[in-house]
Amino acid sequence: MDDKMRLLAAGNLLEAHTWKGMLESSGISVELKGEALLGGVGELPTGIQNVELWVYQSDYQSAKKQMASLNAERPQWKCVNCHEVNESSFELCWNCSAERSEQYS
Ligand SMILES: [Zn+2]
Repeated sequence: MDDKMRLLAAGNLLEAHTWKGMLESSGISVELKGEALLGGVGELPTGIQNVELWVYQSDYQSAKKQMASLNAERPQWKCVNCHEVNESSFELCWNCSAERSEQYS
């Protein structure tokens, strides 16, 4: 009864997983859908494209908000360990290899 809605389409699988991780760390459950996921297990799909993120309707607004703030404002994040600023696509700090934190600069 709580239907899922398509939140957005990611350019590639890595991006999709990055966003999924970010949303899930905020308690939003995310399902990935797309052609790239239909490939055989243990084989990297060659044409990675159109990976979609789906969320529950009840999470849609907050998920949208999260993505908007990620895309529109500052996509970079600041390492809580060494305070270096990292690009949004980095999952680990380039400087000290600490895990990405949710502290955006
Ligand atoms: Zn760092």
